[in-house]
Amino acid sequence: MKSSSADQIHRFVFDDCDIRGEIVSLDTALKDATAHQNISLEARALLGEFFAAVSLIVEILKFSGTLTLQARGAGPVPLVMAEATDQRTLRGIVKFGEHGEPDLRNLTFPEMIGNGILTLTLDPTQGQRYQGIVALEGNTLADCLTEYFARSEQLPTRLWLCSDGDRAGGLLLQALPPSEGRNNGQDAWETVEHLAQTVTTQELLELDHSTLLVRLFHEFQLRLFPAQQLAFKCPCSRERGLQALSSLGRNDAQALLSERDIIQINCEFCGAVYQYGQADLDELFPSDQNPLH
Ligand SMILES: [Zn+2]
Repeated sequence: MKSSSADQIHRFVFDDCDIRGEIVSLDTALKDATAHQNISLEARALLGEFFAAVSLIVEILKFSGTLTLQARGAGPVPLVMAEATDQRTLRGIVKFGEHGEPDLRNLTFPEMIGNGILTLTLDPTQGQRYQGIVALEGNTLADCLTEYFARSEQLPTRLWLCSDGDRAGGLLLQALPPSEGRNNGQDAWETVEHLAQTVTTQELLELDHSTLLVRLFHEFQLRLFPAQQLAFKCPCSRERGLQALSSLGRNDAQALLSERDIIQINCEFCGAVYQYGQADLDELFPSDQNPLH
């Protein structure tokens, strides 16, 4: 059964200590994002955890733009990437080696990706791109991200992620700088972290957010902010394809076209197909060097 919090994210704060959290459940967004990718349940579950992670992290970063989380390694799944925007749209992809998808059943996260790195990239709508990298050393994606935050953020941050391939769920906690007059910061953080640690996959996938939060943190006073909706959306378009061709330059684009009668761009994220012909190139590269007959 679909949780009533499906495809929603909630922010919450603890009234009596300086801790905030985000909780997310994905259902249709995950299904839509993987619908056109011919991948197994295991690969969808891997991507599901990445989607839950970017959904949570984009909320705690005060920025407008796109957040990309990417794992690259030498294992049977050399690339996984997921993007979330501040508009709460998601897209992502899993890539395999040249022999296609191997059997991923019973493989752990490190076994799937192999030795590699996890990269977090922030592409703000305006301003400079920022990239952070951490080695893939944890046993789970959540462990790797917790390690990432331990190294890069001053605020203690911890994540829990899960996915069964059809649904995904995630929980994030962050200790805020203590407000004046409160000195129970560290104790409260340890208690809250310890309580969150008891969360099960089933609870994260099936319970609605307020029920789960009450179950986990009933000894604390929590405030839940209004739900925000998440959805799969690919920003690709015919115009963006043209921009890509434009960045190739006239000669390379023309060479590409001369191999076939048409240049075809396939979007791997959503399955869209864009086709461009000579008329498009002529329009893209208006030039007085066109030979006149
Ligand atoms: Zn697309």
